[in-house]
Amino acid sequence: MWKKAFQFRLHLFITLAQQLQGQTSNCTIRALSVMVEEQKSEKPVAKFDLEKEMELRFEVERQETVQMELIAGMTEVFGTELTRNKKFTFDSGSKVAVFTWHGCTIQLTGRTEVAYVAKETPMLLYLNCHAALEQMRQQAEREDERGPRVMVVGPTDVGKSTLCRLLLNYAVRMGRRPTFVELDVGQGSISIPGTMGALYIERPADLEEGFSVQAPLIYHFGSTTPGTNIKLYNKITSRIAEVFNQRCEVNRKAAVSGCVINTCGWVKGSGYQALVHTASAFEVDVVIVLDQERLYNELKRDLPHFVKTVLLPKSGGVVERSKDFRRESRDERIREYFYGFRGCFFPHAFDVKFSDVKIFKIGAPTIPDSCLPLGMSQEDNQLKLVPVTPGRDLIHHLLSVSTAESTDENLVETSVAGFIVVTGVDTERQIFTVLSPAPRPLPKNILLIMDIRFMDLK
Ligand code: ATP
Ligand code: MN
Repeated sequence: MWKKAFQFRLHLFITLAQQLQGQTSNCTIRALSVMVEEQKSEKPVAKFDLEKEMELRFEVERQETVQMELIAGMTEVFGTELTRNKKFTFDSGSKVAVFTWHGCTIQLTGRTEVAYVAKETPMLLYLNCHAALEQMRQQAEREDERGPRVMVVGPTDVGKSTLCRLLLNYAVRMGRRPTFVELDVGQGSISIPGTMGALYIERPADLEEGFSVQAPLIYHFGSTTPGTNIKLYNKITSRIAEVFNQRCEVNRKAAVSGCVINTCGWVKGSGYQALVHTASAFEVDVVIVLDQERLYNELKRDLPHFVKTVLLPKSGGVVERSKDFRRESRDERIREYFYGFRGCFFPHAFDVKFSDVKIFKIGAPTIPDSCLPLGMSQEDNQLKLVPVTPGRDLIHHLLSVSTAESTDENLVETSVAGFIVVTGVDTERQIFTVLSPAPRPLPKNILLIMDIRFMDLK
């Protein structure tokens, strides 16, 4: 049963802010002042004094990095607290918000595209939301029930991923162990594009690197938009919900902490249907709609009445990202998978014999209904395994290495162990060359091909 009421308790937020902050900072900040000076290194240095509940927003210029240091007071970036007098580095294109509950002084070194201080933020509303979720967790603890399952939805570029990160960070800072469910196949944050998955959160996200992704549960979807195979998308969503339920049965802490589900920005047609499907698969208790009244009303109409649906404003700081920027950040995520964060890993290149692996694509191309075999529907086609004959076409494609031992297993619903990319094909010798995070041999021989390609330019 989806149940539980979701109540807003406004008075709670102040105490919670203090709890989250550890203790109230004793630095007093008088006026907002910005000071810019040029250092010997010719990197500009800017100092910002923030009063309570203000936010410094900045974007790092392309091909530049910016170092940030907290000089005084206390502050957080998307829910992760900053350590004082430690330098954090943000890479080219990063868009960052540094929020303070009590006031602080921050120094930025390096070229920013923009850097400004905002007084208006929805942070109190977001914190309030966290407070209500925390109450639900406490109630779950008392009554031996399960904690809140939250789905965050909204159009593109409204801060969905950021809000998920914030809610997860706040929960984990209160000692909870929430599960992060990532259903965004385009700009997902726990694995490479073209995948969906879940991650058990045990510590706040690293300021520079994000959440630690040591043992994520990942499924192969194969492309960067759910629309290419909506049936598969919904199937995997249901599968992740099933695995999460199993975990909750054996892990009380996981059950009480609940989950935060991040979704795609596609909120119309089948995209909308996928949201409704997700809500029902996970039996969500709370849906947070960012920035779109229409979506909010539709979900209120279509979801059971006991699901608490809330409309929250987006932050004025959220930055719109162009198609090109999105493509670049997808490439960057793949590069990071192989080469590590800031190039700290060394991937392996080796040859694989065509005969040593079995490659499949999930979903056959749609064919006219009249051509389908008797008793088969177009939908069955979307989950069908189509054997791929290795050849030149494989070049640059990403392949997921399934954890399945044999094709008797349901490959669609089996998680993947990792990914490789084809960097060369030699049809004469019947081999292809791959880039892999681990040395040869491949851990398993069943591979699933993605639509996504990656050019290894290193
Ligand atoms: P998508 O539709 O692509 O999934 P989204 O709704 O998940 O987008 P986010 O990824 O959360 O949006 O935010 C978009 C960008 O804005 C990110 O780069 C994020 O770091 C930045 N951002 C979010 N909130 C703020 C803020 N308050 N100030 C400055 N930048 C922000
Ligand atoms: Mn997102």
